Amino acid sequence: MGLVLRATKTGEADRVLLLLTPTGLVSAIAKGALRLRSKLFSGTALFCYSEFTLFERKNLQVVDEVTEQEVFWGLREDVDAMALAMYFAELAALLSPAGTEADAQLRLLLNCLYFLSTHKQPPRRLKAIYELRALSLAGFMPDLVACADCVRYEGGDFCLDVPHGRLYCAACAQKRGLDCNLDASALAAMRYIVFSEDAKLFSFSLSEGSTERLGALAEQWTLYSINRPLRSLDFLHSVWGIENTGTVLLPEERP
Ligand SMILES: [Zn+2]
Repeated sequence: MGLVLRATKTGEADRVLLLLTPTGLVSAIAKGALRLRSKLFSGTALFCYSEFTLFERKNLQVVDEVTEQEVFWGLREDVDAMALAMYFAELAALLSPAGTEADAQLRLLLNCLYFLSTHKQPPRRLKAIYELRALSLAGFMPDLVACADCVRYEGGDFCLDVPHGRLYCAACAQKRGLDCNLDASALAAMRYIVFSEDAKLFSFSLSEGSTERLGALAEQWTLYSINRPLRSLDFLHSVWGIENTGTVLLPEERP
């Protein structure tokens, strides 16, 4: 089973695929897949979740047969959703999960695409959920348990110090010259996304204002953890009408 993260035309009518499978990323080529009558045409399209039969030829994985299981039609008719799905795909490919992590990353992405394509969750909320959860699975988990200085767990605003991945309460943040960037509900949501079990991940409520704060911070945390600009994020910003924040720090500026 594999989810098509990337499908690039090559040659006359072939597709080079990047698949996320339960054991990791797999590159494969689907010969003649772009010919309309090809039996590989629909199952190898971007964001298809399909069962692939592959064989190896000269160190290349070649698609022999494909049976589509989930197509996420809703993405194809909604440019906002498609732009977000492309961002998810770029992140998933960059995180390059392997072993048991790959299975968890695949399930997370399939769930996000399901909610996105069926419009059952707002895209901005899904973006924050995917970013924080995918990064946490990949080992980039911010320390959200309590204030790093005084161990305060809740009450009032907090500051997530992105470059250090540490949390501070309002008083300790002020002593350090840091501004608060999380209200109580955004912090609760962030903890929920990072710590909740899979089955409950998508079931929390959050006001629009707190979702915005959570979204901004989740994106900063992503850019900082990934440490490189993401083309799909620039595209998403242009589609959603958001200005680029330019928060990527070059390695020499990192503390
Ligand atoms: Zn404190």
